[in-house]
Amino acid sequence: MSLDPYKVLGVEKNADASAIKSAYRKLARKYHPDVNSGDAEAENKFKEISEAYDILSDPTKKQEYDNLGREAFYERGFGGSGYQRPDFDFSQGGGFSFNDIFGDLFGTGSSAKRGGRPGGGFSFDTHFGGQTQARKGDDVSLKLTISLREAATGTEAKLELGIPRTCPQCQGQGIVANGGGVRTCPTCGGRGQVNNLENLKAKIPAGIKDGQKVRLKGKGSPGQAGGPPGDLLLEVSVKPDPVFIRKDNDLYADVPVSLYDLLKGGTVEVPTLTGRASLKVPSGTQNGTKMRLKGQGMPISKKKETGDLYVTLKAKLPTKLSPEAMKLVEELAEAAPIEDREKPAS
Ligand SMILES: [Zn+2]
Repeated sequence: MSLDPYKVLGVEKNADASAIKSAYRKLARKYHPDVNSGDAEAENKFKEISEAYDILSDPTKKQEYDNLGREAFYERGFGGSGYQRPDFDFSQGGGFSFNDIFGDLFGTGSSAKRGGRPGGGFSFDTHFGGQTQARKGDDVSLKLTISLREAATGTEAKLELGIPRTCPQCQGQGIVANGGGVRTCPTCGGRGQVNNLENLKAKIPAGIKDGQKVRLKGKGSPGQAGGPPGDLLLEVSVKPDPVFIRKDNDLYADVPVSLYDLLKGGTVEVPTLTGRASLKVPSGTQNGTKMRLKGQGMPISKKKETGDLYVTLKAKLPTKLSPEAMKLVEELAEAAPIEDREKPAS
């Protein structure tokens, strides 16, 4: 999309510098995003105006445009690399345009004096009679990985984060007063924001599920024109556990049991999230039997309830049988034949 800067500014080809500037000022005031908050069409228009002015206010660019014509200027201007559009980024309070526009739009001589911000900063809204609308800062997302056991007990995550904050020197304007004019803010390099390293503690509630989010209010991007900061959203990912599989609030685990305990009955040690539990296995229990341990699952967030733990008993067989042992097995097989061959143990 290459535009005709003369058409955009509504000036004749032979317009002189002051006519171009005056046309630009009129349009820029009308379409500036701070006056048309949230109006995408106005913002677009403003970008076009600024781009047109970027070309026509620069004698080298203007001449190149006049010589090459529109299409060639955009494709092959500037030593063949094409015209580089100015970098607009209104949301971050920085970008190319403000530095230039401030100076050109309002006359730099008096701007610093009229600006009401502390530290001699330049205040944009003052010039528009306070029409700038306060806007909440953007939310910032961050991934946090915890173990299943941490998810079960709840945990406190310690984070060290570079959190974007409004630049204290320029108050987010990206420029500061310099003599009679303005210059790019040296602290933030014109971004209007600096990254503050902050140590944060985030409470991760017990029972949190994979993919759930924890919101830290006010720890996101700074707001604009006095608006509140956004939030930090911690997207919690719960690592798979080597022992337990989680389904909602219940846990599932395989537990190896000796063949003899299944045959004779006995007590089996079962792993739980907090340690171990004893489980009574009646004699003649089949391999693959699933048993429930009530209340040994995951805590249910915001409730005083807990899910259950289901264990599947997996028979362990002896691996080496001596001739004597094999003889005993044969005797056992004869004495206690397994009738139900339709339903082999799984
Ligand atoms: Zn700054």
